[in-house]
Amino acid sequence: MVGFIENKQDCRHILLCNYFCEKRTEKLGFCKDRCDNCINMRDLKINDYTDLTKAILKVIMTKKDLNKTKVKKILMGSKTESSSSTLDNYGEFKKEKAVNIDRVLIHLVINKFIKEVLIKTHNGFWMEKLELYKKSKKILDNKVKIKI
Ligand SMILES: [Zn+2]
Repeated sequence: MVGFIENKQDCRHILLCNYFCEKRTEKLGFCKDRCDNCINMRDLKINDYTDLTKAILKVIMTKKDLNKTKVKKILMGSKTESSSSTLDNYGEFKKEKAVNIDRVLIHLVINKFIKEVLIKTHNGFWMEKLELYKKSKKILDNKVKIKI
């Protein structure tokens, strides 16, 4: 269902039909103006986020125990993550919109490039951390591009 929310490229009605196992292939614009995606299709722009994705993957590889928020803050050079200021990627995307970094992170989780795992800390709290799936290497090797 998270995929449903993130998807901006298909008519919601067709997405729902397919969710319930009808095999429909109508394109964006099918319902004309009865869903947000069809209404917004005139403004839909696909961007290449491969460089941002590579930076995300490198940060996850370099630092342990990061969740999505921390990765975003490191890339944006947030003061609360100044302990990471020695990383090459710290502040590299300070001009990027936070919402775009969120979108890319969610895209990477849904498409199984990264996974969120829950770990229990020594003082008994659960926290979320990010790990890479092997497939993410294809992005670093320039075999896969991330366009959203
Ligand atoms: Zn529609």
